[in-house]
Amino acid sequence: NREIRLVSRPTGMPTLDNFELVETPMPQPGPGQVLVRNLVMSVDPYMRGRMNDVKSYVPPFQVGQALDGGAVGEVVQSQSDQLSPGDLVLHGLGWRDHAVGDAKGFRKVEALPDISAYLGALGMPGLTGYVGLVDIAELREGDTVFVSGAAGAVGSIAGQIAKLRGAARVIGSAGTAAKVDWLVNELGFDAAFNYRDAPVRSQLKSAAPEGIDVYFDNVGGEHLEAAIGALKPFGRAALCGAIADYNSETPSPGPRNMTLIVPKRLSLRGFIVTDHSRRMPDFLAEVAPAIASGHIKFASTFVEGLANAPDALLGLFRGENTGKMVVRL
Ligand code: NDP
Repeated sequence: NREIRLVSRPTGMPTLDNFELVETPMPQPGPGQVLVRNLVMSVDPYMRGRMNDVKSYVPPFQVGQALDGGAVGEVVQSQSDQLSPGDLVLHGLGWRDHAVGDAKGFRKVEALPDISAYLGALGMPGLTGYVGLVDIAELREGDTVFVSGAAGAVGSIAGQIAKLRGAARVIGSAGTAAKVDWLVNELGFDAAFNYRDAPVRSQLKSAAPEGIDVYFDNVGGEHLEAAIGALKPFGRAALCGAIADYNSETPSPGPRNMTLIVPKRLSLRGFIVTDHSRRMPDFLAEVAPAIASGHIKFASTFVEGLANAPDALLGLFRGENTGKMVVRL
């Protein structure tokens, strides 16, 4: 058995030296427990925050201990009558070949053509897109919506839900021409731009000359400032993440146009998906059929092998994923 441990805390962008792959004895399930062989695991931007020793909404990873996070695996041994060998389960003990724990920590899921969907479009990131758009930004029919980080796990679902729920126009930003092409030609965004090509402010102005009603923020920084400038009076923004700043050694200055929030009567509201788990059934009832019928598309970018999981995590900050970044074990 093998697991990935944190060996040191990074300053700025993490490096592979912050992690180590360690051989460990094969864990044995006790009474009420299961042993699971992991098949796919998630790397997510929030894990960067857990590499710092700061109090937040999830506790930090501990130096010298294995990391953890979302994973899907197959039960190989069971000492519980709730799960049987062969069952597919979603759980929180990624970053290792095999996981052991009480059966209640493992949720049985159905086999799918691509089980990585449970880590992305049908899982935590998908719910984040749904809650952010529907509950936090209070999307209405006819809205013009701007989504940053639009080709990622959360953004790609948020943008497509906006279209399905009757947004008049959905605009996305992403960091490569191929992603921009995917957003418009595969996912049905009305417009998209590469934020590396020119200032966000001018590109957003061209894509939405009359302004936007809703902004779904995955990026922060220059994107947030541009969106505040583009929001119409009474516009709403769901502040989901600020990945442009996760590796900054000192906090970046805030948007320079904050004073616009008052005269424009804007609502900018942050949220954390784990506060909204009760919305999971509503989200699944709406999005699962849309995925099955092809009205919502999702993609996963696979990195092969547990040993490459640290590089997959760092790849998020280099924009190497289209859709969900997933490690296949
Ligand atoms: P993504 O799949 O979107 O992966 C991260 C993407 O961010 C990369 O592919 C890259 O795409 C983009 N990116 C990286 N660095 C920068 C940068 N400096 N400027 C602009 N874009 C950058 O990740 P997720 O969908 O999982 O997460 C998206 C956001 O949502 C993150 O901010 C995350 O922290 C947040 N989040 C918040 C949750 C909550 O409860 N509030 C829950 C889940 C996620 P590109 O090529 O376009 O640069």
